[in-house]
Amino acid sequence: MRKINQIYVDGKFVTPHGTELFSLFNPATEGIIGEVRLADEVDVHTAVAAAKRAFSTWSKTGKDERIAVLNRLSASFTERLDDFKEAMVEEYGAVRGIVDELLPLAPVMFTEAAKLLQSYDFSREQGSSTVMMNPVGVAAVITPWNLNIVFVAQKVAYALAAGTTVVVKPSELSASQTQVVMEALDAADVPPGVVNIVTGRGDVIGDVITSHPDVAKVSFTGSTPVGSRIMRNAADTFKRLTFELGGKGPTILLDDADLSAAIPMALASGFLNNGQTCFSGTRILAPRHRLDEVLQAIEATMPGFRAGDPRDPETGVGPVVSQAQYDRVQSYIRLGLEEGAQILVGGEGRPEGLEKGWYVQPTVFTGVTNQMRIAREEIFGPVLVVIPFEDDDDAVSIANDSPYGLQAQVFSTDTERARRVAVQVEAGAVLVNRIFNDLEAPFGGIKLSGIGREQNVSSLEAYLEPRTITA
Ligand code: NAD
Repeated sequence: MRKINQIYVDGKFVTPHGTELFSLFNPATEGIIGEVRLADEVDVHTAVAAAKRAFSTWSKTGKDERIAVLNRLSASFTERLDDFKEAMVEEYGAVRGIVDELLPLAPVMFTEAAKLLQSYDFSREQGSSTVMMNPVGVAAVITPWNLNIVFVAQKVAYALAAGTTVVVKPSELSASQTQVVMEALDAADVPPGVVNIVTGRGDVIGDVITSHPDVAKVSFTGSTPVGSRIMRNAADTFKRLTFELGGKGPTILLDDADLSAAIPMALASGFLNNGQTCFSGTRILAPRHRLDEVLQAIEATMPGFRAGDPRDPETGVGPVVSQAQYDRVQSYIRLGLEEGAQILVGGEGRPEGLEKGWYVQPTVFTGVTNQMRIAREEIFGPVLVVIPFEDDDDAVSIANDSPYGLQAQVFSTDTERARRVAVQVEAGAVLVNRIFNDLEAPFGGIKLSGIGREQNVSSLEAYLEPRTITA
C-alpha cells in the first residue's frame, strides 16, 4: 500500500502539519491502494509565506531564466510520463484514449509557455502611456482529480512565465498523480518557493487559501458549486479569478451531417474520460426527420465504447472515480426514467460481468426534452441524452437553452452552414466537425461554465495585471 506523507513547500518535501489520513481507492477494484496525509491550515500559511518570499525575486527574473526553468520542467514531466499514466489508470481508471492523447499535453504546456514568453511584450506604448504587464502576485491553483497533471502543468507553466509564484491545491482524490508531479517539479530544480504543493481537503484548506490576504489570484478548475463558493471567499480581498467549471455541451448534428463520421466522434466526446470531462458533448441534438437513423447509428457504434478494465486496450469506458460518483450517476439514470425518458442503450446498475468496481453502463437516453433535469444538469458520468430539433434555428435555441456554456460541437458536410450555426451558439468554444479544441486559442466558458480564458496568451495574461505609466 502506497503511503504519501509529504507535501512540497519552499523547494522541499516536508511532512505536513496536518495529521488527517485519507484513503486512496482503485475505482476498478474498489480496493484501497494507498493513504495520503493531508495538509491543514498551518501548512497553507507556510506555503503561502514561501510563495510570497519567492515572489519578490521570481517576479523580477528575466525571460531567459524563466524559459530555462520551463524547459527543465518540460523535460522532467516528459521523463515521468509512464509514471503519470500508471497513476491515472490506478487512481481514477483513466482509459487508453485519455492517457495516450491528453496526458502528453502536460510537458507541452511548459514548452508552449516558454515559446510564447520569447515573443511576448511585457511593456507596450498606448496613447501617451507605457503599459507594463506585471505579475499579479501569489496565485492559488486549485485543480480537480480528472487529468489533474495537465491542469497543474498548464496553470503552473503560464503562472511561472508571467513571473508569478504559486500554491497548488490539487484534489485530495489525486494524491498519487500529485506525488509524481511533486517529484517532477523537484527534479526540475525550480527555485524554492516558486511552486508549492499542498494536498488537502477542499472544504478544509480550500477556504483558507481562497480567502488568504497574501493570495492575489485564484485559478480554479472544478465544479460550478465550488466555483461560486470560492468567489464568495475571494470577494473580501478582491482576488483575480479564473474559473474553468462544469458543462452540458451540445453536439449539433445538422441534417446534412455524415453520421458515419459524426456519431463516433459525438460518442467519443460524450464518453471521454469515462464520461468525466467538462467539455464533453453530453446533449446530442439530432434532426427530427433523421432521428431514427441517428439512434440506429448510436446503437451500432456503442460496441466501440464498451465498459471494462481500464488496463484493457479494448476498453472504451472505465469506472467512475468514486463510490459517491457511482451513486450520483445511478441516481441520474433513475431520474431520467422517472422524468419519462427512454433508455436507448445502457441503463441502471453495473455492466454485465463487472460485479466489482465503480462501473456504470454507458447510457444514452432518447425521448428527452431539453427541460428535463438529465438534459440540464452536469451528470459527470457516461450518460448522454439525444434531443430532436426541427431546423437549424431550433437546434441553436435548444443548444443555448442551458445554464452552461463551455464547448459545443457542430457537425455538417457544409462547413459554411456549420459556421453560420456555430457563431450563434452561446459557448466559450464551438468546434466544427471536431471534438478537441485548438490549444493555441482561448478556452473557457460563459454562464455557469466559468470566468476568464486559458491557453496560450489568455493563460499568460490571466497572471498579469496592467500598470499604466503616463508621464
Ligand atoms: P470539485 O469542484 O469537487 O473539486 C475541484 C477542486 O476544488 C478539488 O481540488 C477540491 O478539493 C477543491 N475544493 C472543494 N471545495 C473547495 C473549497 N471550498 N474551496 C476551495 N477548493 C475547494 O470538482 P471535481 O469533482 O474534482 O471535478 C469535477 C468537476 O470539475 C466537474 O464539474 C467538471 O466539469 C469540472 N471540470 C472543469 C474543467 C474545465 O476546464 N472547465 C475541467 C475539468 C473538470
